[in-house]
Amino acid sequence: MQNRHFTAFGEQTKAIHAGEHPDAMTRASAPNLVMSTTFVTDADAGFSVEAMDEDNAWIYTRWGNPTIKQLEEKLSALEDAETAVAFASGMGAITALLLHQLKAGDHAVVSDVAYAALSELTNEMIPNLNIGVTKVDTSDPEAVQAAMKPNTRLVYIETPCNPLLRLTDIATVAETAHRAGAKLAVDSTFATPAATKPLQLGADFVIHSLTKYLGGHGDALGGALLGRKTDLTPLRKKTAIRLGGVISPFNAWLILRGMATFPLRMRAHQENALKVATYLEGHPLVERVIYPGLPSHPQYELARRQMNNFSGIITFQVADGKKQARIFAEKLRIIHYAVSLGHHRSLIFYLDTQDLLQTSFKFSSPEQFKSWDTFAGKGIFRLSVGLEDAADLTGDLEQALNR
Ligand SMILES: *Cc1c(COP(=O)(O)O)cnc(C)c1O
Repeated sequence: MQNRHFTAFGEQTKAIHAGEHPDAMTRASAPNLVMSTTFVTDADAGFSVEAMDEDNAWIYTRWGNPTIKQLEEKLSALEDAETAVAFASGMGAITALLLHQLKAGDHAVVSDVAYAALSELTNEMIPNLNIGVTKVDTSDPEAVQAAMKPNTRLVYIETPCNPLLRLTDIATVAETAHRAGAKLAVDSTFATPAATKPLQLGADFVIHSLTKYLGGHGDALGGALLGRKTDLTPLRKKTAIRLGGVISPFNAWLILRGMATFPLRMRAHQENALKVATYLEGHPLVERVIYPGLPSHPQYELARRQMNNFSGIITFQVADGKKQARIFAEKLRIIHYAVSLGHHRSLIFYLDTQDLLQTSFKFSSPEQFKSWDTFAGKGIFRLSVGLEDAADLTGDLEQALNR
């Protein structure tokens, strides 16, 4: 069965069936896990990836593998993308994109607050390759416009951004990027395809850390780039296969299996998160809650326009976050005090403003500090609301808040 047969189906049907087909030989209903690095070829098979085209037989797993291909087809179906390239991690996907899209002398506009490893990479390693980087608050379209230069080739945003849950208007920024001849990449890990389809809003590339909601079970790292074939076929051939950050077929298989329930899980994450966010907003010790599904979110109007699902991540502030973090780590019984997000298990972690502004985020204007302060104050708890019973989660927070 080809992917094109799935465009007419609903999201849950696509999540289960797209990319999968019963094995021709065994008639197995579940997808095969092909743990082979190499494939027996004809004597005239080419030895360089330069000669590879889409219909080539399998040769070597770094170039392509049947299980990884199934994952890429399922991802493309859910994101309504022409094609996808899977990677060993979200950062593997991001690194391949930056190194493919940018060369010495080019310039990129990058969100001033984004996933920490991307922020750190674009603070040092990318500028060291003689690629200019301007960090701006991309929630302000005028700041993006002002940062564009004649050699800008990429605008890079995250919406909602990690960890602030600040949003960027994708359609507006896509117009700004395209007017300047640049491409727009959107890290949609927090939103997921259940909430937003950035390609339909004008983005050229979508990035996912599959480690989070798409895999959904906290057991496998993975990443993906999605977009047009004219962009991603050369990216796969010239950059991804050579950098070598390919996903293991085993992880691809685990993520495929996790994705079968993806739309169902996202509905449940949203339902739980709204209950927990409402509980936290009513708690006397909680000073501020940020959740795109609450009318108190500073960009609630944009959230409603751009997100069909508000996802499961909440941030909140208390008077002494560092002290509360120690209490949470000790007292929480269900919620794990741990990094990462998007799993069926609830996870919480404290992010201290002073620490992050030293290690990861470099601001140059007073407006950037002000925006950070609006969303994060002295520091935030990032709570990834899992799929446990909502009453057990609020009960767990209740017994651990400030005790
Ligand atoms: C986790 C995350 C990444 C990185 O993904 P890995 O799979 O950990 O490499 C990138 N972007 C966002 C928004 C993330 O949350």
